[in-house]
Amino acid sequence: MKALEKMVLLRGKVVKGFQRGSKLLGWPTANLDPAAFKGKIDDLSEGVYYGFAKLESDQKVYKTALSIGWNPQFQNKEKTVEAYLVNEFAEDFYGEEMRLMICGYTRPQCPFDGLDALKKAISDDVEETVKILDTKDYINLKDHDFFTQK
Ligand code: ADP
Ligand code: MG
Repeated sequence: MKALEKMVLLRGKVVKGFQRGSKLLGWPTANLDPAAFKGKIDDLSEGVYYGFAKLESDQKVYKTALSIGWNPQFQNKEKTVEAYLVNEFAEDFYGEEMRLMICGYTRPQCPFDGLDALKKAISDDVEETVKILDTKDYINLKDHDFFTQK
């Protein structure tokens, strides 16, 4: 895991993805509206990242494991940004505004040998995310202005 030189702050609606089973895997990912990150993440390579996220309907700031990938629907020319928020939500929150703070890089994307290996990798990502964000370098970022400003 490695901190980004400069954290990336994104703000936009949660949109529908392909629903290709992230929920079935047990790790739903809130997909960010591409308009929210256009031109802002050109320096970030494909991979898994860690940071914080906040939804408009909720005061809380959640730890988040997110992935940056390529959207097959657009011949892999468009990126996707999807975040698993470390919390159990009673309901979906499509259409809500999400603020996303990307603090650091966890690992590259890589192919997995079957579903169980993939599930294990995600569960490790989330565990490491929670651990690193509880350290002094990050813990106070929950109170960053970005999450409260209009
Ligand atoms: P999609 O392909 O539409 O993104 P997912 O299976 O990835 O579908 O599910 C994502 C949706 O699940 C989110 O948009 C959100 O509304 C909901 N959701 C529920 N719990 C969470 C969570 N802990 N983290 C992220 N999204 C969640
Ligand atoms: Mg998703």
